[in-house]
Amino acid sequence: MEKIDLTTDVLIIGGGLAGTNAAMAAAERGAKVIVTDKGNIDRSGDIGGGVDHFMAYLNEGHTWDTQEAFLDYVHKVGRGTGHLSIIESVYCAELPDAIDRMARIGNPLTQADGSFYRTRSMGQPGTYWINFNGKRLKPRLGKTVRQLGCTVLDKVMMLDLLTHEGAVVGGIGFHIRSGDVYVIQSKATVIATGNTNRLYENPRINPFNTWLCPFDTGDGQVMALNAGAALTNMEYMRMTLLPKGFAAPGFNALVGMGGRFLNGLGDYYMEKHHVMGNRAPRYDVVFFTLEEIRKGHGPIYIDCRHLNDEDLTHLKSSLGYDKDTLPDYFDQRGEDLRSRPVEITVSEGMQAGPTEVTGSGIKIDKDSASTVPGLFASGDACDHNRCVHGAVTGGYKAGKSATSFVSNIKHADSAPRSSTREEIDRFMAPIYRSSGYPYRQLEDAIRKIMAEHVGPMRTAHALEAGLQKLRGIERHLDEMKANDLHELMRTHETRSILSVGKVMATTALFRTESRNKPYHHRLDFPNTDNTNWCGLVVVQKEGDGVSCSFETIE
Ligand SMILES: Cc1cc2nc3c(=O)[nH]c(=O)nc-3n(C[C@H](O)[C@H](O)[C@H](O)COP(=O)(O)OP(=O)(O)OC[C@H]3O[C@@H](n4cnc5c(N)ncnc54)[C@H](O)[C@@H]3O)c2cc1C
Repeated sequence: MEKIDLTTDVLIIGGGLAGTNAAMAAAERGAKVIVTDKGNIDRSGDIGGGVDHFMAYLNEGHTWDTQEAFLDYVHKVGRGTGHLSIIESVYCAELPDAIDRMARIGNPLTQADGSFYRTRSMGQPGTYWINFNGKRLKPRLGKTVRQLGCTVLDKVMMLDLLTHEGAVVGGIGFHIRSGDVYVIQSKATVIATGNTNRLYENPRINPFNTWLCPFDTGDGQVMALNAGAALTNMEYMRMTLLPKGFAAPGFNALVGMGGRFLNGLGDYYMEKHHVMGNRAPRYDVVFFTLEEIRKGHGPIYIDCRHLNDEDLTHLKSSLGYDKDTLPDYFDQRGEDLRSRPVEITVSEGMQAGPTEVTGSGIKIDKDSASTVPGLFASGDACDHNRCVHGAVTGGYKAGKSATSFVSNIKHADSAPRSSTREEIDRFMAPIYRSSGYPYRQLEDAIRKIMAEHVGPMRTAHALEAGLQKLRGIERHLDEMKANDLHELMRTHETRSILSVGKVMATTALFRTESRNKPYHHRLDFPNTDNTNWCGLVVVQKEGDGVSCSFETIE
């Protein structure tokens, strides 16, 4: 195991969808770039196996197809969870170039004939979803980043940020196969580590069989918080609907094409409960589905039998774009969308944005800058990006802004090296310990606590008890034992998961109302209180804990 010291202009932590776009932006502007990822950037992150929808307005002539109408949609479905001026700057201003860029790198958003295949769901006023085959998108992004001359450190997990006089000046991490430790000094740093998964018990028992990337464990949010940055919207627990026994997002494809939600009594319940029916915002669909299950009206299905031949053929041919194994799953269960409804269920929770158009995580401004100098954030790790469109546009914006920041600095400030030696010993401790808890034991306990106390129905009493139990687990974090470097990575992920869980419980306790139910549903404060709570709960490190404050949406 060696200690390797590197310096760069821009350090990008997380080479997923947002991180690769950030790297492209910085490298295209002449910056020296290092990208680190726990996996291999050609296939890592949420869309490593493929993806199928990109949200966009295209100005093709309809009244809903403009920036103004899109921002109105964000305002309505966001319900006070994002600043429109920031969405305008990190998404709208970047959108035309993002669409061109996808085509430039060889994975256009268009069909073979050059047209856009557009569908509608999730409360949209028109067909904002562009359905496309994103199977090759991630490998093409990886290749482009390497061609641009970025230094790519695959399989390097970053563990902490280096700070100097209140600014972020780099990061420290280790190679999960060789154990080499990297101390990277940078003039600007972009965090793009995705959202937090493996945080809740899941119906498929295996926590790695989850609907978003199981290796996104909130590390970036925790590093940023510890470096003094603010986080927002951390109280929201995101869920979706999945084919029963299978984990993949898939929801857009079925609903976007016109699928109808059906309960065990034969009622198309969303059409009764919501003015937008099956195309209601995701949180409403999840809320009413949970209600149906609670009332004993299950099982729940999605019904596509009424679709015409052309739509069914398109749907079947595109089902594997997100995850190769979905068509296999359908085949093996003998599911046929043409002849019978498919059973679905509500997924496990995750810490992620309250809607498809507003995010949660590191608080950013219009330049994707965090509240700490030198630190930028993008993609699902920050509070104003979400989903594919947010990661592509916001990632690029963060890369551009980080490069401008660098051009205004004369020298990279030197981080005190002595402190890193102590940190390295602390990070490596689980592997040298002779015995201790396996990471999985603590992680399973965290998931159970989160599901029982910080789930889709919350009360002050349950949240306080949950926090106390999480603190109880925290006392054992320094007793974890890793048998190899791979397990060492897992022990650090467990630490992040626990920290995010604590922040979630704390912010959920602070917000004494309900918003975007069931993503934040307080049984003791069941109503949405727009007079007092239309805005962001901002959380920051204070002493050994965190403190919360409230920011109104402009
Ligand atoms: C199968 C699937 C299909 C989806 N389909 C759609 C869709 O059709 N439309 C849509 O809008 N959204 C979709 N989503 C959601 C969307 O893909 C994500 O919101 C988006 O890709 C997030 O991008 P990101 O860069 O923030 O995160 P990611 O792309 O997940 O990248 C995060 C990266 O950070 C790395 N990382 C994490 N921690 C560390 C660390 N400590 N050190 C170094 N590296 C680290 C990870 O390895 C990962 O590569 C889908 C998600 C999945 C899983």
